[in-house]
Amino acid sequence: MTTTDTTTAASTTASTPVSHWVNGQPYAGNAERSAEVFNPATGQVSSRVALAGAEDVEHAVAAATAAFPAWRDTSLAKRTAILFTFRELLNARKHELAEIITAAEHGKVLSDALGEITRGQEVVEFACGIADLVKGGMTENASTNVDVYSVNHPLGPVAIISPFNFPAMVPMWFFPLALATGNTVVLKPSEKDPSASLWLAELLGEAGLPDGVFNVVQGDKVAVDSLLTHSDIKAVSFVGSTPIARYVYETATAAGKRVQALGGAKNHMLVLPDADLDLAADAAVNAGFGSAGERCMAISALVAVGPVGDELVAKITERMNNLTVGDGRRNCDMGPLVTKDHRDKVASYIDAGERDGAVVVADGRTVTPNGDEAGFWLGPTLLDQVTPGMSVYTDEIFGPVLSVLRADTYEEGLELINSNPYGNGTAIFTNDGGAARRFRDEVQVGMVGVNVPIPVPVAYYSFGGWKSSLFGDAHAYGHHGVSFYTRTKVVTERWLDPSHGGINLGFPQND
Ligand code: NAD
Repeated sequence: MTTTDTTTAASTTASTPVSHWVNGQPYAGNAERSAEVFNPATGQVSSRVALAGAEDVEHAVAAATAAFPAWRDTSLAKRTAILFTFRELLNARKHELAEIITAAEHGKVLSDALGEITRGQEVVEFACGIADLVKGGMTENASTNVDVYSVNHPLGPVAIISPFNFPAMVPMWFFPLALATGNTVVLKPSEKDPSASLWLAELLGEAGLPDGVFNVVQGDKVAVDSLLTHSDIKAVSFVGSTPIARYVYETATAAGKRVQALGGAKNHMLVLPDADLDLAADAAVNAGFGSAGERCMAISALVAVGPVGDELVAKITERMNNLTVGDGRRNCDMGPLVTKDHRDKVASYIDAGERDGAVVVADGRTVTPNGDEAGFWLGPTLLDQVTPGMSVYTDEIFGPVLSVLRADTYEEGLELINSNPYGNGTAIFTNDGGAARRFRDEVQVGMVGVNVPIPVPVAYYSFGGWKSSLFGDAHAYGHHGVSFYTRTKVVTERWLDPSHGGINLGFPQND
């Protein structure tokens, strides 16, 4: 048996791997590979996860393909009624899902796990009202006695490939709309926290979703590659780091699929001299260190404009002194990082920043956690006097490290943001409406906050970045999601009578 270990920090305690989910039930699969899944707060292995091979992917795609015709033909009323029941069950039992995320696999604090479920639930609620969005248009007498109308068809089986940091919310950005519009789904969650996907699959079944409409394959690159090139998969929704997003986009589009691939981020917060510095400091701490910085919308670079830098750094430091780090079940502010490898990588960026001349104002490497010593701990870290050439600034770190840069003017700050290769989220803090409006217009970023540090759009808008933060044309959920998961057919129709006879080889014109 081949074993792929995600890290070597602890010994295995569980024997049966977390399984796939195919045709409405757990599916052990044929692959001989599995990986360890860690509880990051204890450093111990909480379970193993099966890693699908091509045969397992084939089995899941076959189930989704077989289930598609009946699901496509299920009335819109029934499809949305199932999603409505799912929403009710999810709302009543979300603490169970939060517990899985916090206690067994991801480690984020319980309130944060509940928060991500609630944001995912918003998309389910949006999908319950899909009827109005999925309907086409109709024009009577577009030409004399000729009617024209459009209908929106589902695509078929679609793949969703999700990252570790939102094991519930990111799948819920996609599958409610994919299902509501009549597609069937194969979800490939992150192998670091695979169990949330099974809980969601089981709940969809309880809500009445027919077998085979929603399937899960656990796995790594092998499973992803099989999905990207499978001829029955019609579309791919991916979320993860930028190099993998680019690879997924290139591979799946070359295989003829519709693709939306959301990538990494480096989100800046621009603080103008007139901003309320207390509110800006609160926002910087919340957005920099929530979920241990493992959020694609986390603020990782704060740009202080003009003379406010020192005062702002002092206010942020004061607030950081009160943050507690520990086991997510113990009412702490911040949990551990997801794996030991990731924790060490983030710590190495702090080392590099220090070597490069940044001032370490608050040092998370020396944190004393409220949790097991063997957990993957790294406390909130504040680096001041960071400059654009430092790796702590150029790279996406994805951890609790906030870098402060200084700019003399608004223009200098804006130029910094716009020359960054990422364009996911950004925020401006100011009391000057004119400056905020100018920023909103001039900044080259997909999601902009004005005095809002994590501007994740509500479910009836769409989520997506620009530049290297998104490959493809469609953002996630909202109207973009509806059009991503449907294709439009336009019908031009007339019912013949003798007046329509005669030969005319000219291009049809309306009369
Ligand atoms: P990741 O890119 O390592 O993994 C994402 C998915 O790709 C997982 O399902 C993983 O199994 C798979 N994968 C990993 N390596 C692969 C390979 N070589 N070939 C094919 N598939 C592969 O990302 P992660 O570490 O799980 O998540 C963190 C990243 O996701 C960060 O970069 C973060 O910014 C990004 N993210 C972006 C958004 C967004 O909306 N833009 C949201 C959440 C997370």
